[in-house]
Parts: sequence; structure tokens; C-alpha cells
Amino acid sequence: MSEPRGNAVRSEPSARAAQLDAADELAGLRKRFVLDDAVYLDGNSLGALPADVPARIDDVVRRQWGELRIRSWEESGWWTAPERIGDRIAPLVGAAPGQIVVGDSTSVNVFKALVGAVRLAGDGRDEIVVDATTFPTDGYIAASAARLTGCELRPVEPAEVPGALGPRTAAVLLNHVDYRTGRLHDLPSLTAAIHDAGALAVWDLCHSAGALPVGLDAHGVDLAVGCTYKYLNGGPGSPAYLYVAAAHQDRFDSPLPGWNSHAEPFGMSPTYAPAPGALRGRVGTPDILSMLALEAALDVWDGVSVDSVRAKSLALTDFFLDCVSQYVPEGRVESLTPPAHADRGSQVALRCADAGTVMKSLIEQGVIGDFRHPDVLRFGFTPLYVGFADVERAARVLGRTLGG
Ligand SMILES: *Cc1c(COP(=O)(O)O)cnc(C)c1O
Repeated sequence: MSEPRGNAVRSEPSARAAQLDAADELAGLRKRFVLDDAVYLDGNSLGALPADVPARIDDVVRRQWGELRIRSWEESGWWTAPERIGDRIAPLVGAAPGQIVVGDSTSVNVFKALVGAVRLAGDGRDEIVVDATTFPTDGYIAASAARLTGCELRPVEPAEVPGALGPRTAAVLLNHVDYRTGRLHDLPSLTAAIHDAGALAVWDLCHSAGALPVGLDAHGVDLAVGCTYKYLNGGPGSPAYLYVAAAHQDRFDSPLPGWNSHAEPFGMSPTYAPAPGALRGRVGTPDILSMLALEAALDVWDGVSVDSVRAKSLALTDFFLDCVSQYVPEGRVESLTPPAHADRGSQVALRCADAGTVMKSLIEQGVIGDFRHPDVLRFGFTPLYVGFADVERAARVLGRTLGG
């Protein structure tokens, strides 16, 4: 029997990876991140470190804090950082300037947005609809927001939301991309259905911002929140953001009206008067160190189009699914991620027996994804620093681990 020349069949995916990498217009961005030989497919949980961040933080700590001290609130732009950095995030989620502030955690911003939305919806509407498949924190906060506002909470699968809306619906809280399966929900049509019912749409963008176009303004989203430590690479615990559409800002009544959102914060008045615009979403003193790390991390986005990020993200997930079907023995994994591009975020979730043990083994072999209870292997693809050769290697290691 003659040997197939050059082991042609086995090397096919790696040849394809090399072609795709050579044609990748975002490939040059990888060197702007601190990475090693591992294949890092966990950027949907904690984005990698942008290489310029340590020097910026060193300057913030040693010079701005160490030397300028209190003067930095003005001279280093600390006081205005929440709205300044909000305006840096705005183009990544399709928002005009002046509608986003950065600060607090996603959980806290879900609370502000949801209670604010119910207050905007007005009297007679006493129901909050929440994504039944949501990341848990949004569900917990929604339940508390419902109790505080005297609303009933209705968990509904995103696809079923249009049928669940009615004259009682005040607000609907949805995840744009499902954190477990990577399913992308139809933000334009769901937002339109919510508006037809006279309710407000609140979107959680944790798994979409930085990975795909969102179009907040174009689709008339009312309020939105998102974290910055996933695809925006802001660092562990970096502050989240809150979007309040310009049309609602005058009536947005924050349930956490701290002094930073006061019209005259240094007037030290005993009575509250809200600041105009996005500032109304602020609460207390901003977490400057995390916030300025995030600001430095956002520099990598200069000149990067979200459309090209989306195109590469889809190519990466397509290629991963292809390689998995070639390398992994039949029946060992089942993809929970929708095959249609229109329904897919930037991750692939594979259901797999013994997923926890399998992921441990992958990590030992330099392929970093994560395990989600009870049986999901999750792989996130950050187009700014993941390449096609990484994808091929990850699938190959997975195949070998599963006996392929
Ligand atoms: C990651 C994530 C969160 C995280 O909330 P924190 O308050 O930042 O811990 C919330 N919601 C969704 C949908 C997420 O994916």
C-alpha cells in the first residue's frame, strides 16, 4: 500500500489555517496583547492583557496618584473618566456620544437600568419580563427590582418574548448573547416587539460588545448594560457601563442617585438634583485604577472596525466547528451553538460527557477554555488575538483528548 503523499489528509486543516491566517487583516493586533504559547479561548470570561496597560497603570499610580495626588481629579481627568471612557465604548456598541457612563459592576448597572426602566414605563405597568436563560446575576437582580417596584417577574425564553408582552409589561431584560450556548438573540426584532407593546427594552451586552455589532441607537434600545473585562479586555473586575438612550435621559430616575450624579456634586446640597445626560447614571466615586486600565485597554480598538471583527469571529467559529467535526470521534460532543451565523455570538459551546475532566486535560495541554456546569465545554474566540492556527490546534488537542 502506498503512503498518501505528505500525509495530505491529516494536514489539510492546518494548511487551511495557514491560508486563513495569511489573509487575516486583524492578525497584526495579536502582538498588542500579552500572550504565550497557550491557545487562549477564554477571552469571553477574562480578556487577555493589552501590552500597553502595565505602563499606563504605572503612570497612573506613581505620577498621577503618587506625585499629583488630589490634583489628578482635575489635571489627570479622573473626575470625568466615567463619561469620557463611556464615549470610547459608544462606537463599539453603535451609540452616539453622551449616552454611556462607565462604573460599578454589571450587576449594579442591571439594577439601575431595570428599576429606571420600570419608572420610565409609568403607572399601570407592573410586570417585568426577564430572559429565562439569563446569566444568573441578571435574574437575581431582576427579582429584587420587581419586589422593590411592586412588579411581578415573568421569566420567558427570549424567542417567546413577543407572545408574553401585554399592557402590563413595563420592561424586558434580555441577554444579547446567551453565556452558555453562545446563541445570539435578535435584538432589532425583539426591541421592536417590546416597543409595540409600549414597554422598554433593557439589553445586557456582556457577551456581544467587542465581538459583534450591536446598533443600540439604530435599533432604538432604551437602556443597556455590559461588562468590560470580557471582549473589551479591561482587566479583572474592570467597571461595567450603562447606556441610557438620549430620549430617556431627562426622565431617567436612577434608584442609586449618588452624589456623583448630582447636577452640582460639589454644592454638597442636602437635596438631590440630577445631572443632565448620561452623568445621571453615575453613583459614587469612580474606581480610578480599574477604570484607567480599561481606558488604556481600549486603545487597541483605534481604527478597528466592528464589522471586520464580526467577520473574523464567524470565520473562527465556523473553522472551529469544521475542525471539531474532522478531529473529534463521532458522537463524543454535541454543539449547542447555533449553526446559522445570524444566531451565533463569538463562542462555541460543546456538550460533552465528563466535561469538567476533559476541560482540565485541555488546559494541561495548553488549550484554555472553560467548563460550565453541568456538561458544557465553552470556547470563546476573541478576534483581536485568536488566530486560525490556534483554532486548529485547539480542535486537534480536543480530538486527541477524546480518543480521536
Ligand atoms: C459576565 C456577565 C455578568 C457579570 O456581572 P458582574 O456584575 O460583572 O459580575 C452579568 N451578566 C451577563 C450576561 C454576563 O455575561
